[in-house]
Amino acid sequence: MRLGVFGGTFNPIHLGHLHIAQEFARLLSLDRVLLIPAATPPHKAAPELADAADRLAMCRLAVQGHPVCRVSDTELRRGGKSYTADTLAELSAAYRGDRLFLLMGEDMFLTLQNWRQPERIWGAAEICAAPRSEHAEREMRAQKQRLESLGAAVHLCPIEFLPLSSTMVRRAAREGQSLAGMVPPPVERYIREKGLYAPAP
Ligand code: ATP
Repeated sequence: MRLGVFGGTFNPIHLGHLHIAQEFARLLSLDRVLLIPAATPPHKAAPELADAADRLAMCRLAVQGHPVCRVSDTELRRGGKSYTADTLAELSAAYRGDRLFLLMGEDMFLTLQNWRQPERIWGAAEICAAPRSEHAEREMRAQKQRLESLGAAVHLCPIEFLPLSSTMVRRAAREGQSLAGMVPPPVERYIREKGLYAPAP
């Protein structure tokens, strides 16, 4: 099996995530994409981090109707800082003989060599990156060359980017605006019902 591995804070999951998950699957002929919410993201600040259970529930709601996508709670069960190298080691053992593709957006791709034990990461999975800004191409090509010189296999995937982020969703929720066009309707309902990302009363 060709297995996509898509980690993130997913605070909350949004349509930009779903879009790249599907497009990576199409372009790389992936049989499955595992979305893996991080317990504590080690590579970036996480302001207003919703509970793990809520982030997981929203991921599960979001992938309904996207048969290639599955949600894995492996990092949440492990707890603590979610290092990708450890997750990939776990998945390599669980999916022995399968080919792993680590999926990410431009921002994460450009810092990959600074993650913990990066050679364990590209030793276990091929690295697949999608742009997240207008003029990403030159910098992403340079990064591909750099990572390949370090031994990684890198796929740059020409996926049209949606200008969306979890930060934008949290801000809209805080300001009481509609989240239509940013998250799937069941995720919007969940955010409203649970009062997530609302200002403290
Ligand atoms: P935040 O705004 O809270 O920093 P985020 O929108 O960047 O969150 P993450 O869960 O941190 O979301 O991202 C998970 C992965 O998805 C990362 O690899 C990131 O680059 C990628 N990603 C997120 N949004 C997009 C988008 N609109 N286009 C392409 N890649 C994206």
